[in-house]
Amino acid sequence: MTALLSVQDLVVDYGKIRALKGLGLEVAEGELVAVIGSNGAGKTTLMRTISSLLRPTSGSITFEGKDLVSVPAHEVVRRGIAHVPEGRRVFAQQSVRDNLLLGAFLPLRAGKKAQVEEDLERMYTTFPRLRERQDQLAGTLSGGEQQMLAIARALVSRPKLLLLDEPSMGLAPVIIDEVFRLIERLKASRATTILLVEQLAFRALEVADRAYVIEQGHIRTSGPAKEMLANPDVQRAYLGAVTAH
Ligand code: ATP
Repeated sequence: MTALLSVQDLVVDYGKIRALKGLGLEVAEGELVAVIGSNGAGKTTLMRTISSLLRPTSGSITFEGKDLVSVPAHEVVRRGIAHVPEGRRVFAQQSVRDNLLLGAFLPLRAGKKAQVEEDLERMYTTFPRLRERQDQLAGTLSGGEQQMLAIARALVSRPKLLLLDEPSMGLAPVIIDEVFRLIERLKASRATTILLVEQLAFRALEVADRAYVIEQGHIRTSGPAKEMLANPDVQRAYLGAVTAH
């Protein structure tokens, strides 16, 4: 497997707190890889470090074979990595359309207006509700619609790698169904490679090709998602809890 993203021996500290303790994982082009784990395991820290929002104490991250650790966050975006952070942050005081245009900042700056219009059209086809609400302020959308907008904004930049941090967070179960149907469609289109971090282990394993279980800053186990669903240790530690959701 040639890795699109490769993370090795990653150590990340918040002052005296060691959040990642030598973590490694790989994502190949076209894959949907899930990282599952409970509260505080280090999932968000991993995503923020890949995006260069946090600097690791040691270890390496490479994307398309090139180092990412010493690269500033805006350059990570330019290289083709889009991050949808936990808590679906949208620009509440901006319209839906303007939020999408913010995602298209790089092609707009490069004068590719026609490409951006085409990409917005593609997003409106994928997310018809965003088309209906394109002039509405993003802050007035429902939680589920805001999550869709946050994902659409990331996709407008045509990323090679999409980092999705807990897309289910704070959403009602029917909306979570909708978000996961969308993730499934993105996977089927193979337009972007996806690294998905989720506490809802069952949901994540159902859509993923492969998965890693992260526990207290370490990878405890990894494998094909279907095998993980059948793994008694994973079932006991993560899937039992999920049925309560
Ligand atoms: P959750 O699913 O609850 O979001 P997580 O797996 O994403 O959890 P992280 O947010 O990455 O976990 O946190 C990993 C560890 O680092 C936790 O022990 C957490 O308390 C600690 N941590 C996270 N952010 C900070 C911070 N800014 N300062 C100090 N410690 C932090």
